[in-house]
Amino acid sequence: MEFIKEEHTLFNLTAEDLMISSEKVAHVQMNNPLEHALLILVKSGYSAVPVLDSKYRFKGIIGKGMILNEILGIERFETENLSTTIVEDAMRTDIPCLEKSADFFTCLKALIDHSFVCIVDQEHYFDGIVTRRAVLKHMNQYFYVNKDIFKLN
Ligand code: AMP
Repeated sequence: MEFIKEEHTLFNLTAEDLMISSEKVAHVQMNNPLEHALLILVKSGYSAVPVLDSKYRFKGIIGKGMILNEILGIERFETENLSTTIVEDAMRTDIPCLEKSADFFTCLKALIDHSFVCIVDQEHYFDGIVTRRAVLKHMNQYFYVNKDIFKLN
């Protein structure tokens, strides 16, 4: 099956076209207590959000599962640790990120294993995120517009 390279197709899209910009992205900082991170996660409904340093550089992600794991004791959740442990101690740092110029397929590949991918500049300052939803939305649109070629109903 041959993909058509026209204007306004997936081939021309970059991470910049797909991303939610930083000012609209919920985030926490490395030195925030876990209690604060949990509050942001529960209130926003997101399962994970980016972690930034005080200069707004991307450092990793924190999610509900990571927080629960951090406060898990032998027989119970040690909820008192929510106020004494900081995000830096529970976050994941082995997270791939991309630059704004990354093409659609690079974003798609990164999103196979992650529900969102962070977009940073060369000094790692945080620009925004590209979510699975944004990529799937564009793919759906692309298949719909080209449905004759793909023999879809
Ligand atoms: P979606 O593909 O829209 O379900 O988003 C995937 C994931 O991206 C969500 O579960 C969140 O972890 C993250 N996410 C989406 N939008 C935002 C946002 N505005 N702020 C922070 N994280 C977000």
